[in-house]
Amino acid sequence: MPKKLSVWTIPLIVFPCYTVNYKIIMEVIMSTEKKGIFDWYFKSNLLVRILLGLVLGAIVGIIAGPAIYWVNPFGSLFVRLLKMIVMPVVLASLVVGAASISPSELGKVGVKIILFYLLTSAFAVAVGLLMGNLFKPGLGLALGSAADAAGKTLNQPKFIDTLLAIIPKNPFGSLSSGAVLPTIYFAIIFGIGISYLKTSKEERLKKVGTVLFDVFDGTAEVMYMIVRGVLQYAPIGVFALIAVVFAKQGAKAVGPLGIVTLASYLGYVIHVVIIYGGLLLLNKFSPAKFFKKAQTPMVTAFVTRSSSGTLPVTMSTADENMGISKRVYSFTLPLGATINMDGTAIYQGVCALFIGFAIGMPLSFGQQMTVIITAVLASIGTAGVPGAGAIMLLMVLNSVGLPVEAGTPVAAAYAMILGIDAILDMGRTSVNVTGDMTGTLLVAKSEKEVDTAKWGA
Ligand code: ASP
Repeated sequence: MPKKLSVWTIPLIVFPCYTVNYKIIMEVIMSTEKKGIFDWYFKSNLLVRILLGLVLGAIVGIIAGPAIYWVNPFGSLFVRLLKMIVMPVVLASLVVGAASISPSELGKVGVKIILFYLLTSAFAVAVGLLMGNLFKPGLGLALGSAADAAGKTLNQPKFIDTLLAIIPKNPFGSLSSGAVLPTIYFAIIFGIGISYLKTSKEERLKKVGTVLFDVFDGTAEVMYMIVRGVLQYAPIGVFALIAVVFAKQGAKAVGPLGIVTLASYLGYVIHVVIIYGGLLLLNKFSPAKFFKKAQTPMVTAFVTRSSSGTLPVTMSTADENMGISKRVYSFTLPLGATINMDGTAIYQGVCALFIGFAIGMPLSFGQQMTVIITAVLASIGTAGVPGAGAIMLLMVLNSVGLPVEAGTPVAAAYAMILGIDAILDMGRTSVNVTGDMTGTLLVAKSEKEVDTAKWGA
């Protein structure tokens, strides 16, 4: 099948080229004097290039439609490069973080950040419900008959099992399968062990403790260097990812489901500007400065639709742009990418109302209160990967007596939303990641773990 072959040869060609260019990229990053044939590319502002990729991707995607699908591997390449870095960077920086903070301080940071994540998520669902009540998406759709049922099943693990699963049976297994929570747990224990070794009175133990610390510290630094290299490829990856999403779903999102899209995005913007912006102001941070520093992770989250995939970029931004100490962000950011999903919570609020309206059974006040509780829980349980929030929406719908069963109107309404999920997912993932960064900055400030020089103070 020569046609298929031609598409799949693209990554085979691009990848080695990129790998070869990696040396050049690294040289450019490390040196102040930039030269060579890629001069024009590397010399221009990275964020401008990424945004250009985003806009061009959307335009080309809408105009070209399915004809642009062949760029898909270029997008997958970007996502794979990011994912490659996730687990090493989480492990290395968390070990270093935990090794340089006392267990009691770590506990304090933990309580603060979890409270922040929970409270802001509850606000987020409320914002989503507010938008849904204002815009009433789906009103008058009267999906009385069954259409294409989604037929998704929900396997909800028991709460106690979820808690137990935080302790890895095999830390190497967790690391290799990309399970973040058990890796966080193991890295913290390991880091605490190192901190005891480092302060040991026995010379030998002190020495091995210091060596181990330096190994992980060095590993984290190398990973950030690789992130900077990968980001040089971002404009191309972003173009490809966005072009494909818009080619597939662009037209639908402005069509009949336009109000769901509008209500969700307005909810995202309100939450980011009012809740995060307000909290930042209260803590004497300039929101304008914050969003400028946070741009790269926000855009990366938008295009990759994965909080976990964005994690290396989020962590390097916290480290290099925001001046947050590794002791705080190495713990709070991976945790946030796993449990803090404000954008997902907003989306669930809007979509629960949409489905109620669409089937002619608008949600009562009591049902909306139930949505607040279950959507917060659902957003905690949502994995930081593309489309996870749509699966967890099933749990929210169950809780208000609207189970998605094949052939029912609820299934039809749900299927409609699934049709534009990528578009909704881009915004919600960006909000999710922004929430992680806001919480991390504020908790770090309360612990005096922010380098104020980075904030012009
Ligand atoms: N894609 C989202 C994230 O990674 C999760 C979701 O689907 O809501 O944060």
